[in-house]
Amino acid sequence: MRDPRYDILFEPMAIGPVTAKNRFYQVPHCNGGGYRDPSAAAEMRGIKAEGGWGVIFTEQCEMHHTSEITPFIELRLWEDKDIPQLRRMSEKMKTHGALAGIQLAYSGINGPNLYTKEVPLAPSALPIRTFTNDPVQARALSKTDIRDLRRWFVNAAQRSKLAGFDLICLYGAHGFGIFQHFLSRATNQRSDEYGGSLENRARFVNEVIADIRDAVGDSMGITLRVSLDETIGELGFSNAELREFIEMNRDLPDLWDLAQGTWEDCSGPSRFKEEAAQEQLVTGIRALTSRPVVGVGRFTSPDVMARMVKSGTLDFIGCARPSIADPFLPKKVEEGRIEDIRECIGCNICITGDMTMSISRCTQNPTFMEEWRKGWHPEQMNPKGDSGNVLVIGAGPAGLEAAWALCRRGYDVAIAEARTEIGGRVTLESRLPGLSAWGRVRDYREYQLRQRPNVEIYLDSGLSAAEVMEFGFENIAIATGATWRRDGVARQHVVPMPIDEAARIYTPDDLMAGNLPTGEVVIYDDDHYYMGGVLAELLVKNGAKVTLITPSAFVSDWTNNTLEQATIHARLDDLGVEIVLNRGVTQIASDHVVSNCVYTGKTRNYASDAIVMVASRMANDALYHDLMAHQSSWADAGIRSVRVFGDAEAAGPIAWATYAGHRYARELDGPDLGDALSFRREITELAAE
Ligand code: ADP
Ligand code: SF4
Repeated sequence: MRDPRYDILFEPMAIGPVTAKNRFYQVPHCNGGGYRDPSAAAEMRGIKAEGGWGVIFTEQCEMHHTSEITPFIELRLWEDKDIPQLRRMSEKMKTHGALAGIQLAYSGINGPNLYTKEVPLAPSALPIRTFTNDPVQARALSKTDIRDLRRWFVNAAQRSKLAGFDLICLYGAHGFGIFQHFLSRATNQRSDEYGGSLENRARFVNEVIADIRDAVGDSMGITLRVSLDETIGELGFSNAELREFIEMNRDLPDLWDLAQGTWEDCSGPSRFKEEAAQEQLVTGIRALTSRPVVGVGRFTSPDVMARMVKSGTLDFIGCARPSIADPFLPKKVEEGRIEDIRECIGCNICITGDMTMSISRCTQNPTFMEEWRKGWHPEQMNPKGDSGNVLVIGAGPAGLEAAWALCRRGYDVAIAEARTEIGGRVTLESRLPGLSAWGRVRDYREYQLRQRPNVEIYLDSGLSAAEVMEFGFENIAIATGATWRRDGVARQHVVPMPIDEAARIYTPDDLMAGNLPTGEVVIYDDDHYYMGGVLAELLVKNGAKVTLITPSAFVSDWTNNTLEQATIHARLDDLGVEIVLNRGVTQIASDHVVSNCVYTGKTRNYASDAIVMVASRMANDALYHDLMAHQSSWADAGIRSVRVFGDAEAAGPIAWATYAGHRYARELDGPDLGDALSFRREITELAAE
C-alpha cells in the first residue's frame, strides 16, 4: 500500500469553513468544452473525483455578462438559468468526497465582449488585451460601476452556493482576472482610492472578499488566485510586490492560490520549463500568511510533491495538466502504484482544445473529454468481444496505445516492430532538443505492457503482407506511421516543387537518424508545428548556419496554440537563426533556394549548402494496401479484420495517434455504427417562441 513518505500528501486540511480530504488540488483548467458541452465537462471532473483529488475546480466561469472572452469557450454564470449545468458539475466533483470549487472570472481588460456586445469595463480605459488584438477598448469603471461589480460578485457567489459548490476561487492571475488588473500598475492607472499605492490597488479585492464572506463565507471557502510575477517590467505586479501584498493582507482569502503572471509562463511546455519551475517564486510566501498556499508546476512526481509540503513551500499540490494526463494520480500514490502514474509530457496539446475552441485532447490520456461523449473511462476498458487476438504492426504511439488498451480488454496481443527499439516517432523525437519528456509516451506503455502476460513484443520484425497472412492472427492492426516527404509537398506546393538534382535535400527523418547537414542550411517550414523550430535548434547546436523560411507570419505558427510560439521565436533568435517570415520557397538550386513573398510573389535568393524540408508526411500504408489487395484470402488465413490507424492512416500530432490507437481498441468487435454519430453531444434547447 502507500509509501509512508507520501503520508503527508493525505493529511486533511481546512480551507476556511470546509476541509479538503488530502493535498491533491486540481486547479482550474480549461477543456475546450465549457458551456457548449456541459455534461462532457462535468463527467471529466467526476472522473477526477473518482481518481482521488481532494479539491476539484471548474475552468474559469464568466460571472457576469458584461465581461466575456468569446471566442474561447469557458463556463458562464450570468443568470439563474446557468445554475443547473454548473450543479451537474459540482455534483460530479463531490461524488468521492472532494471539495467542489468554482472559479469566478471577471475578465476586465481581457474580455472583448464579442458575444454580448457590452462595453468592456476595466480599472483603466485601455485596449483589450487578448491573443487576437481585438480592436476594442474598455472604459474605466466609475465608482458606481465598482459598486455594481461588487454586487455582481455577491450575486455570482450566491448562485455558486445554489449550484452546490464548496469553494470560490477569485481569478486574478495569468493576466486574465480583474483582481490582477486592479493590483498591477500597468492596468490600473487610476488616481482615486482604487489606484496609486499598493494599499489602494488592493482595495477592490479586499472589498469583494469582504462582501462575499458576508454573503456565503459561513459555508464556502474563498480562495484568491494571484500572479506570482507579471514579468512585464517595472509597471507590472512583480514577485516582490506580491509578497508585500500578501504581508499587508495576510488573512484576506481562506487560501492563497499562486500562479504565474501570464498563462504562457504558468503553463510553459516541458521544452522550456522543468517540473516545479515556479518553486523560487513561491518559496517563502507561506511564512507571510496564516492561510494555506497552493502552487503549480506540472507536478507529476510524488517525491517532488511531498518535498513541497515537507519543506513548507506549499500546503496543497496544484495540478492541471498532471490531472489531465492521469486523473487517477492521487489514487495511484495512495495505493502504492507510483509506476502506474501516466505522467504528463508537457506538450500542451490539451491547451490547443481551448485555443481552437474545439474540445481538448491529451497526448497521454486519450480518454480526456471522452468520458461522457464516448463513455471512455481512463482506467477501465470495455469487455472483450468475439475474437481472441490481435497482431499490432508498428510500436509507435498509435500501436503501443492500441496494444495497451487491447490487452486490458483481454485480447492476446502481439506487437511487431521493424526497428530494434519501440516508440516509433516518440523515441526519435524525444532525442531532439527539449523534447526528452516525450519519451514518457513510450515509457508508460512499455512498462505496462511488460507487466501483462497476454502481450508479446517482437523487435527487428518488419513484416510483409505474406508474413502477416501466414501468422494466423484474427485481427490485424496496422500502425506503421508516416515518413516526411522530400519533395516539398505540403500547403504552398500541392505537387512537387522544382528541385535541382545536385541539391542536398534532407528530411526530419534524416536528421533524427543522425544525418545532419552542415554549412549554410535552409530549413523550409511549411508544416508550422514544432518540428521546423526544433530542427533549427539542433542544427545550430551542431555548428550549422541556419536560415528558417516559412510562408507563415510566425515561426512554428501552430505553437501559438501550445503557448510556446513567442518562446520559440526568442530561442531561435538567441541562437542566431535567421528567421524569414511570410516567404515561401519556389525552387531549389544546388547552391541556393529561390524564395517568394507570399503577398507580392517577388523573389529573392538565399544561399544554401543544404535544405531541410519540413513539409508534410506520407503514410506508410503499403502493407495495409497489400493486405487489402488480398482480401479474398483472409478467411483462409484466419483473418477477420484489417485496420489502419494513426499516422499510417493520416499523419497528425502524437495525440492524434494515441487517440486513434485507443479508439481502435475500444471499437474492435463492436457494433457497426453505420451512419450514426460516434459520440454523444448536447445541443441548445430551443426557447419557446
Ligand atoms: P504512429 O504515430 O502512428 O504510432 P510512428 O511512426 O510513431 O506512427 O510508428 C510507426 C512504427 O511502425 C515505427 O516504429 C516503424 O518502425 C514501425 N513499422 C513501420 N512499418 C512496419 C512494418 N512493415 N512492420 C513492422 N513495423 C513497422
Ligand atoms: Fe500533459 Fe500533453 Fe496531456 Fe496536456 S496534452 S496533460 S501537456 S500530456
